[in-house]
Amino acid sequence: MSFTPSIRREGPALGLSSLDLPAGANPQPVLSEAEKVKARLKRLRARRGASHSKNWNRENPEKRRAQKRVEYALKVGKLVRQACERCGATQRVQAHHDDYTRPLEVMWLCPIHHGERHRELRCIAA
Ligand SMILES: [Zn+2]
Ligand SMILES: [Zn+2]
Repeated sequence: MSFTPSIRREGPALGLSSLDLPAGANPQPVLSEAEKVKARLKRLRARRGASHSKNWNRENPEKRRAQKRVEYALKVGKLVRQACERCGATQRVQAHHDDYTRPLEVMWLCPIHHGERHRELRCIAA
């Protein structure tokens, strides 16, 4: 027979390895301790995020005012929406203010990096 023995070597490079494992080679379904901790942190963080957004408008009138100023500036062409300055994403980019008293000094960030920036600011303030 003349089939090439090297044919199985394409597997890992294509990222299929976990999908076409033979039935005998079960990956361990048990979560490690580290993964459990990570999952719990994620839940905690999600809950805190929810309460944050619920009271956002009421607790942050100056933030809302700054966002309104940005909306207006975009409309009249005083500001131009840009790509996320951390990853270059162009979808759902948001205007972020480090300083709400300067409503036209914005950072353009995707939702992920916008959240990241706020975590940084919270750390600095704490
Ligand atoms: Zn980003
Ligand atoms: Zn922001």
